Parts: sequence; structure tokens; C-alpha cells
Amino acid sequence: MPMINSNAYMSDVRDIVSSFPVRALQLYAPKEEDIETFEHFIENTVAPLGVTHVTLTLYYKFEYPSHPEIVEQPATSVSVAKRVAAVCRKFGITVVPELDIPGHQSDVRRENMPMVPRGMIRAYPDMQEPYGEGHSTLSVCTRHPRLRPIVYDMIDDLMDAFETNVIHAGFDEALDLAKCPRCKGVPEYVLFAELVNDVNRHIKSRGGEMWMWGDRLLDGYRFPTANVGYETSLNNTARAVDLIDRDVVICDWHYNPEPMGHLTPSYWATKGLRFLACPFNSVFGCEQLIRATHVVKDSPNAIGTYLTTWSKMSDFIRLTEEKIPAYQQTGVIHHDENDVTSDSSNSHKFADQSSNVFLKMYVRHD
Ligand SMILES: [Zn+2]
Repeated sequence: MPMINSNAYMSDVRDIVSSFPVRALQLYAPKEEDIETFEHFIENTVAPLGVTHVTLTLYYKFEYPSHPEIVEQPATSVSVAKRVAAVCRKFGITVVPELDIPGHQSDVRRENMPMVPRGMIRAYPDMQEPYGEGHSTLSVCTRHPRLRPIVYDMIDDLMDAFETNVIHAGFDEALDLAKCPRCKGVPEYVLFAELVNDVNRHIKSRGGEMWMWGDRLLDGYRFPTANVGYETSLNNTARAVDLIDRDVVICDWHYNPEPMGHLTPSYWATKGLRFLACPFNSVFGCEQLIRATHVVKDSPNAIGTYLTTWSKMSDFIRLTEEKIPAYQQTGVIHHDENDVTSDSSNSHKFADQSSNVFLKMYVRHD
């Protein structure tokens, strides 16, 4: 059992964060028009503040050389990926490209809007798992014979272009499992775990490491979080936690404060899975999650933090750079918790709020 650390509720959040080996930041991947903004941000802000990993959300918006038919535009080109790799290598930062299976194969469903498939199931409609859970996204069939070969090619393309061996494979909010004739009757947690382990095996065959979101591995009855069903699972996937390889890295996303505090860090620590605390746009939620992680800091499984931004990259960078000088002098963050939103149509608000969380986590003040 890990030792309990009594300083968890006394130390400065910034000092807690800097005590972990992994300090990650998620951005949407740059394209031709904003690669210079990205390079400048890495050199002048990200590297000096000690961020160790930059995860780049791509999904299908990358010009996969091996599968042009699944590419969604506007896409990041291989030449932009090479510039990302070069600037990150210069400062010792690891790039973590992110694709996402088996869920998120469309935008989130909105009122009176059709679900538009993307990537694999747009190119190959027979790969879609029947849709059933509502208010979600489309999923790809986890046992479709075409799935693994395409995903392995995507991983190889990303590793080559971004010159990295760490891949974020998604696995969040996969709600439609075990519905098609191929999968029906197989427990959801079996379908989920076999795909996790197959993808992990491919990544490891190239000397790599796999990151994945943790929500499907958390039993929604045991962890009744703010977004139960999404943030934790109600679709019979949680037992996969004992079936998946112990060497995947769990990205433990919890964006909101919890009335009783966050219980998941100690869960991962005792399950023998390395994990990252992943806040988003609530300063209060971030502080709570990071302190709960610090409680188990003596566990070798508590490896760090990973701020998600879910907003236009250039907005996040501009707002962050604007706020840093004043914050360094005053230590004051202008943040209204009552205004924190999960409405993904308000990307600018996401950028503003997550840049406040960035200050809290990564910027030192007098
Ligand atoms: Zn299926």
C-alpha cells in the first residue's frame, strides 16, 4: 500500500505538480498556419516552465500516409509534424500524438443534428457499431477485421512523423459496444480489454508506450462523478481494469470538483496502473484532483499531471501568454468558478478557463 502523504493539503499546487516526473499539456495539433505560434510557445513558455510532454489531439486530422481515405480536413501535414518533432526534441519534450478509438467516431450529438461519421466509419460504413446510447458519439466495431490493421498503420504513421514512441490511443466514452452480430453476447469489458491489449502490444512492438483515458475502467456505481456514464462507466466496461496490461498509462480525467473529493488516484495506485491526473477548466477541480494525487505520491504509479485544454490552440496560447506576466507578479488568477462550463460549443471560454488552470499548475509566482 502506498504511504499517505500528509502534506497533500498544505503544499502549493505548483510545487506538487513539479514534484512529479510527468507534466503534460494537451493541445489540438498545429497546422501550416499556426506552426510558428506553436514553436514560439514551446520555446518561450512550455520548455522554460518545465512541461515534459505535449499531447497533440489529431484523431483523423492528420495526413496519414498509409490511409489517405480516412483523413479528415483540415489536417496536419507530415511536414508540420516534422517541425513539431524538431522543436520538441530541441527542448527535450516528448510529443504524444492522440488518435481515438473505439468511440468518438463522430461529433457529439446535438439537438436536431445528424451524426456525421468521420475517419474509418466514414470511409468504411460497415465498420460502425450500431448506435444506441444517445447523446454520445458513434463508435467503431471493436472486432471488425479491418480495425486493427488500420489502427496499427495509423500508429506507425504517427510515430514516424512525430518521431516519438508514445501514443495516446483514446478509449474514452466508448458507449456502443457488443451491439453488432459479431460482438453481441460478448461482455463489454472483454471486447474493450482485448482491443486495449492488442493496440498496446503493437505500440510495444515498436518500443513504445500507450496512454489511454481511464473513464471506461471506473465503475460508475463506485465512482458516481459529476458526469457519471461518461466520466465513469455504466456500460459494463469497468471490469476491464483487471484484464488490461499493467504497463499502459491511465489518463484520469476529472474536470469538476467532487463533493467528497476525488477517489480515483488511490484506486489507480492500488490497482497497479500508472496514472496522470487530468484537469481541464476548473481551477477548483484541478486543485482538488492534484491534491488527491499527491496523497498517494509515494506510489510509483502516481507519475504526474496532464492539463487538457479542448480549445482552439492559438486562443489558448494567446490567452496564456497574455496572463503569465501579471500572474508571476501577483499570484492572482481571475477565474469565476460559477462560469465554468462543459458546453463544447464555447471553445473560447474553454481556452480562457483552461489557461487559468495552466497558471495554477505550471507557472511560479512571487
Ligand atoms: Zn461489433
